[in-house]
Amino acid sequence: MGEVHWRELYREVVDTGLCTGCAACVMACPRDVLGYTDDYFPVQVGEGMAHDQCVIGDRGCDICTRACPRFRSWESDLDEALFGRPRDPDTEIFGPVRSILLTRATDKAVHELGQDGGLVSTLLIWGLETERIEGAVTSRIVNDGRGPFDAEPFLATTRDEVLAAAGSRYTYSANPLAMKQADERRMKQVALVGMSCQASINGTVEAYGVNKYKRKIALTIGLLCSKTFTYEGQQQVLAEHGIDVADVTKINIKGVFQVWTRDGGYHEIPLKLFHPYTREGCKLCPDFAAEHADISTGGIGADDNWTLTLVRTERGEEWLKGVIDEGLVEAKPGEDDPVAMNLLTKLSGWSRKRWPSDRLPDGHQAPGLLPIASTS
Ligand SMILES: Cc1cc2nc3c(=O)[nH]c(=O)nc-3n(C[C@H](O)[C@H](O)[C@H](O)COP(=O)(O)OP(=O)(O)OC[C@H]3O[C@@H](n4cnc5c(N)ncnc54)[C@H](O)[C@@H]3O)c2cc1C
Repeated sequence: MGEVHWRELYREVVDTGLCTGCAACVMACPRDVLGYTDDYFPVQVGEGMAHDQCVIGDRGCDICTRACPRFRSWESDLDEALFGRPRDPDTEIFGPVRSILLTRATDKAVHELGQDGGLVSTLLIWGLETERIEGAVTSRIVNDGRGPFDAEPFLATTRDEVLAAAGSRYTYSANPLAMKQADERRMKQVALVGMSCQASINGTVEAYGVNKYKRKIALTIGLLCSKTFTYEGQQQVLAEHGIDVADVTKINIKGVFQVWTRDGGYHEIPLKLFHPYTREGCKLCPDFAAEHADISTGGIGADDNWTLTLVRTERGEEWLKGVIDEGLVEAKPGEDDPVAMNLLTKLSGWSRKRWPSDRLPDGHQAPGLLPIASTS
């Protein structure tokens, strides 16, 4: 990339609102001069430094720009690196795929604890138990009495830890920050679980030669994602419906915000009430379908006991075949669920419309195109 570094990344991505807060730059920074704020943005931590200043960058370090999944021509570069070609914007609105399946764990405990079919947890447990990985960079609930709302980056290394982290929280968790723990423990192979923005790290490390993490990340599992909400916003909407966040045992989003409570209660709250509390970093994200993951997973099917599974790469295919061959996962074709397939196309099209093509800094590309005129 030549003469660019944190200064350009800050001005073109953070300052313009393109930054999702994925923390790839913080993860990759070899001198630990980048920190992470409580409101999910990377910052320069050098004493007395301006936000966009980096003395290491001035000396030639450009790793943060190479790890970032929103810098300049990221999407076409990542497509080329992972799939060997640019995507077809007319037929690949949710990104290139090898196959689309519906999957679920055959282990009852894993299936019950999983948000949908428990595929993600099954892959992680299998990877750990077969020593394909030493750890999984993921997210867990913060044990602070605030119910299943506060998520923090977490390095899981055992079946129990994977299961403790299973399920979905709709508050942002910058999972790549847990990679620092994997580094400290000198782990050689880890899996990365992350929302769409974080899963694109799979492509940046490949496209721009972030070699340390290119070698280290054995599998990236993406979570389909339209947006995350602030903790305070979710707390407020629930309070308006007479629900204390501390009483909540599980949440899910299936067209409505679903809430299960300790007393056995179940509540549905209109999703639109949460939209004002959309986290800032999600507002311009064009990627619903975790388009650069090895395997992308979601729960938009007619039957939420299954994980909608998009296999995108050869290694994704190998891992999925591994758990199916071992009898740990059952699978059926994605076309069995036309509801899921339609929603996948529709929601991917909606997210693509967010990318602000008309006000990008010089050198930035508009990713994908918008063939779906009827989704507005
Ligand atoms: C914020 C968010 C928004 C989502 N939005 C959609 C959507 O709009 N449509 C859709 O189809 N699917 C969405 N998903 C994905 C869906 O909820 C499931 O995660 C997915 O179907 C996998 O299910 P599973 O049972 O196989 O995973 P599980 O076995 O339950 O594993 C889930 C993994 O996700 C990790 N995780 C949980 N919460 C977070 C978080 N906040 N940040 C990072 N990692 C986390 C867990 O640590 C765990 O490793 C979303 C997920 C999240 C976290």
